[in-house]
Amino acid sequence: MSHYQHIESALVHGGVDGDARTGAISVPIYQTATYRQDALGKNRGYEYSRTGNPTREALEALIAELEQGVAGFAFASGMAATTAVLSLFEGGDKIIISSNVYGGTFRVLDEVFSRFHIGYSIVDTTDLAALEAAITPDVKAILIESPANPLLTVTDIAGAAAIAKQKGVLLIVDNTFMTPYLQRPLELGADIALHSATKYLGGHSDIIAGLLVVNSAALAERVQFIQNATGGILQPFDSYLLIRSIKTLGVRLDRHVENAQRIAELLFAHEAVERVYYPGLPSAQGYEINQRQAKNGGAMISFELKAGYDINKFFEGLQLIVLAESLGGVESLVCHPASMTHASIPKEIREKVGITEGLIRLSVGIEQIEDLIEDLQTAIAGAAS
Ligand SMILES: *Cc1c(COP(=O)(O)O)cnc(C)c1O
Repeated sequence: MSHYQHIESALVHGGVDGDARTGAISVPIYQTATYRQDALGKNRGYEYSRTGNPTREALEALIAELEQGVAGFAFASGMAATTAVLSLFEGGDKIIISSNVYGGTFRVLDEVFSRFHIGYSIVDTTDLAALEAAITPDVKAILIESPANPLLTVTDIAGAAAIAKQKGVLLIVDNTFMTPYLQRPLELGADIALHSATKYLGGHSDIIAGLLVVNSAALAERVQFIQNATGGILQPFDSYLLIRSIKTLGVRLDRHVENAQRIAELLFAHEAVERVYYPGLPSAQGYEINQRQAKNGGAMISFELKAGYDINKFFEGLQLIVLAESLGGVESLVCHPASMTHASIPKEIREKVGITEGLIRLSVGIEQIEDLIEDLQTAIAGAAS
């Protein structure tokens, strides 16, 4: 069915390409809750839109194709997708998470799934020996991000997958920061890829959505059951918007990454900057591994200003770059992980893993690079005291 070999074309034509009935170029928005049944027990493949909706299914087929998986599933948010994944487990099971994960992932384990006796342990998964040693008999899955949020640490996905396979546990990779355009965890041996599609896949900071892709028919059947049973589905209009956004993912990311590489190099050489975290810099932790498993370093950068620079003044000094939660939109966004995205992680844990009070996270947008550099330079100069 495919008339293309490259992911750039799959982004535009993958999944369900247009509408077979009318020839419409875009997938129609089936804004319906229910479907006419032709006779008792006889329907046309759809009964109720929580269970199945053609617009959502087009998106699900698209993300499954992009991630090279068996099936895709669309949810109302990244956290709804995470919740569906964690619903695969039962009381007494334990999940290993990387020491840098999205704050909400930590929170749902720590405060929701813990009440159903699903435990977790935090492991530095950049160290594969430590990961292997942490797999006790009650561990049923490993959930990693690479690069991880917010310190952009890189875990060897193929290495983690080999350990997971040997120990008989699932490897779940939150691929939000990379997207299948830059990195495909299932091809590297992971069992499940997870996305907050709110970020790069949506790309315009205007929808909240989550996606899952699984690598086996057994997992697909189980996740489909959970999706229908728990009901955190993505609506038809948002499914349509996400299909529309994914068509431009490649061109957007090329520009995001080009800008990010320039800014990371500039910050790295800057006299006011203490430390830069960006997997596209040869000095970064995991640079070679990232080069091997991903197309490039992505477009997220974290950094710390030197002592004596006032970060409040830095944030106030930005004119173009917006102080906001979230990332991956066309507009550059900056945030303070310790008080924003990672505030739900207790301070002792934050400090231990390196999420300091001085850490700044930058989601580099697609604006003109000189404008972004000018804004950063001005804000840094204004933060000097
Ligand atoms: C934002 C984010 C999530 C949560 O997704 P929502 O769409 O906000 O629910 C999960 N993982 C990562 C890495 C994220 O950045």
